[in-house]
Amino acid sequence: MITNKDKDKDSYRNTKQRQKILDVLVNSKSHPTADWIYRKLKKKFRNLSLGTVYRNLRILKEKGQIWELNLGTGFSRFDAVSHSHYHFICSSCQNIYDIKIPPMKELDDRVMQITGFRILSHRLVFFGLCDLCKLKKKKNNRNIRNNKV
Ligand code: ZN
Ligand code: MN
Repeated sequence: MITNKDKDKDSYRNTKQRQKILDVLVNSKSHPTADWIYRKLKKKFRNLSLGTVYRNLRILKEKGQIWELNLGTGFSRFDAVSHSHYHFICSSCQNIYDIKIPPMKELDDRVMQITGFRILSHRLVFFGLCDLCKLKKKKNNRNIRNNKV
């Protein structure tokens, strides 16, 4: 029989696990996958399962505390949301960076004008090469020119 006390204990554990997952996201700049979060927390919480991580990520997303970023890389990446911001994803190393420019409210206004829809927000992703990959590519090109490869 499941008693109320069991249920309390259960929901306490869930809340605690959810808070830990949120902490990981708040303290990470890398926009990690569910698997990465799981492996990081598993060291401390040996009873944690990947399913629990997924379930809590879904709940956090529904509460609007995190974003699920699905940027065509195969795996969803997650991000704690304190304020709206844009992203850059490197087409070579797949790293995701925050872009620190204020969201363009005028874009919402323009789309509202054109469509008549009520726009609440928008998200924007830039694609290209990060500094490191840009450098690597430059070096490779130089090596090819000098017949080093
Ligand atoms: Zn890169
Ligand atoms: Mn972000």
